[in-house]
Amino acid sequence: MIRGFAPNNLEELYSVLENMTEKSKIVAGGTDLGIHLKKMTITPDALLYLGNIQETREIIETKNFIEIGACVTHTELEESNIVKKYLSAISDAAKDVGSLQIRNNGTIGGNIANASPAADLLPVLFLLDSLVVVANKNKELKEIKIEDFILGPGKIALNPDEAILKFKIPKKNNMYSAFLKLGSRKKLTISRIGLSLKLMIEDGKINNVVFFIGAISLKPVKFEIPKEEISKIQTISKFLEQENKERIFNKIYNIIFQITPEKFDRNYKMWAAKAVVYDLFDILAIRLNNKDCK
Ligand SMILES: Cc1cc2nc3c(=O)[nH]c(=O)nc-3n(C[C@H](O)[C@H](O)[C@H](O)COP(=O)(O)OP(=O)(O)OC[C@H]3O[C@@H](n4cnc5c(N)ncnc54)[C@H](O)[C@@H]3O)c2cc1C
Repeated sequence: MIRGFAPNNLEELYSVLENMTEKSKIVAGGTDLGIHLKKMTITPDALLYLGNIQETREIIETKNFIEIGACVTHTELEESNIVKKYLSAISDAAKDVGSLQIRNNGTIGGNIANASPAADLLPVLFLLDSLVVVANKNKELKEIKIEDFILGPGKIALNPDEAILKFKIPKKNNMYSAFLKLGSRKKLTISRIGLSLKLMIEDGKINNVVFFIGAISLKPVKFEIPKEEISKIQTISKFLEQENKERIFNKIYNIIFQITPEKFDRNYKMWAAKAVVYDLFDILAIRLNNKDCK
């Protein structure tokens, strides 16, 4: 018999976590877990649903962070004005996940806990220096950097008596971000390249540019434009020039060539990256003109 738990607040969650074993499962939207339960490839002894706990459902702005509950759905991420205002790359990623049904039910917590190399929110949460807030049975809330939390495909730094409660993302007023994925038509829109970008601007000049590329390796891959190159570019208009787009495409092409295994459609991804880079720059250009959306 499978036991079911649905705590209504943090205190109840802490005591429920004591009952969880290696075989227990947390369920959020069930878009992924439901398939395994139906096929009986997973046979849990207990299911824990977190969606009744307020902290898992809300998106809030604090002094230094945007906090996003683990059970916030992709649709809620896409529609959130707070997310659009500070973390547009998250709304870009959420709006392209699977189908409408998947976006209405699938959650950010489930997306990250899956730790799939193709998960769309993964490169974006790496890009935005996110912290994963984990609740455990000792009534603690641990904050773990996303890069320490994701250990590899399907592997995360989470014990059976722990659960992801929310994500904390540093709030930066001078940051613009964007995400674009190239999906596979045959497999709905599972990402074949997920390119995310953040641009830091100070006194009207660019002072930092970072990319995280998803779905080209086991974990998202970082690429930062060296400071010497940034100092030559400086202005936004120069950054958006054709020559710079081409330079960035060439760098990403080489990264994919070096690290993507051939069986992961390496050659296709190397060339397809060009369209992704150019389209991502188009999104960024619009965003830089519309200062309400960063
Ligand atoms: C047809 C289809 C298309 C899809 N397309 C995409 C896509 O385009 N892009 C993409 O990224 N993904 C896609 N997915 C994968 C998946 O649906 C999403 O990643 C979704 O966000 C998972 O969230 P969920 O709430 O449904 O997770 P669930 O199915 O409820 O759980 C998934 C896993 O996460 C664990 N988990 C859930 N919440 C927590 C928590 N708070 N703490 C700890 N562990 C937790 C569960 O135990 C389980 O192991 C697709 C899936 C399907 C079936």
